[in-house]
Amino acid sequence: MIEVTLLGTGSPVPDAHRAGPSTLVRAGHQTLLIDCGRGVQQRMAGAETSATALTALLLTHLHSDHIADLGDLLITRWISNFDPQLPPLPIIGPPGTAEVVSATLRAFGHDIGYRMKHHADLTTPPQVDVKEATEGVVWDVDGVRIRVAPTDHRPVTPTIGFRVEHDGASVVLAGDTVPCESLDELAAGAGAMVHTVIRKELIAQLPQQRIREICEYHSSPQEAGATAERAGVGILILTHYLPPVQPGQEDEWRAQAATTFSRQIEVGDDLHRVQVHPGVGSARFGTSP
Ligand SMILES: [Zn+2]
Ligand SMILES: [Zn+2]
Repeated sequence: MIEVTLLGTGSPVPDAHRAGPSTLVRAGHQTLLIDCGRGVQQRMAGAETSATALTALLLTHLHSDHIADLGDLLITRWISNFDPQLPPLPIIGPPGTAEVVSATLRAFGHDIGYRMKHHADLTTPPQVDVKEATEGVVWDVDGVRIRVAPTDHRPVTPTIGFRVEHDGASVVLAGDTVPCESLDELAAGAGAMVHTVIRKELIAQLPQQRIREICEYHSSPQEAGATAERAGVGILILTHYLPPVQPGQEDEWRAQAATTFSRQIEVGDDLHRVQVHPGVGSARFGTSP
């Protein structure tokens, strides 16, 4: 079984009740964090995990809302760890990730210096192990396998989606994207897919051109549903709601996705959990190993 927890279901727009984009995936003994938006560590505490408990950080792309709390995550993992055996944090993301991580650590250079000077047991700065990829298998450790494929969030490029597989169960993290063939292929037969969505019919009415333009590189619930249907996904988990889902509106969002997707649809608040069991996805495409 793989467990998915929506840590932050918000977007770049600050919201009192929704943290920025981030999702937790627990597979076997591993805890994977996908993206680290605003407030991610508060939500991780709510999900009974922490920076030092993370097995790896996966980044779908380098938009600010998805990496807003990267510095806080790296520094917190560093200063709250008392295990000399804790390995460097694996970080997997698209090309550009290594530059963003090292620039982030540079931005915290004064802080790192203060703490190393003060605490004799902090003998090295935060340790990371960054891997950049746009396709293929990027992780195969203790029965957990992770594959990446390009998504289409143009003009933002490159962007990637992740497929996590464990013991016959599988979850795809699509990130921000419009429908595209490589996502269809990545998601084929998956037990669940976490997909970011925006309500284009509402956003398109706003007076600001800059806001309307975000419709160009996101999927609507109907489009996310169509992708999930084509790929034969078992459960469609919507997140990154724009505008934010208001209490009582969940059925409206679900109904839009249900016009194109015939199976289970999840719309939730921060900390919403979904269990994904082996064999939930359709066997039509039969790609699960
Ligand atoms: Zn984005
Ligand atoms: Zn985003």
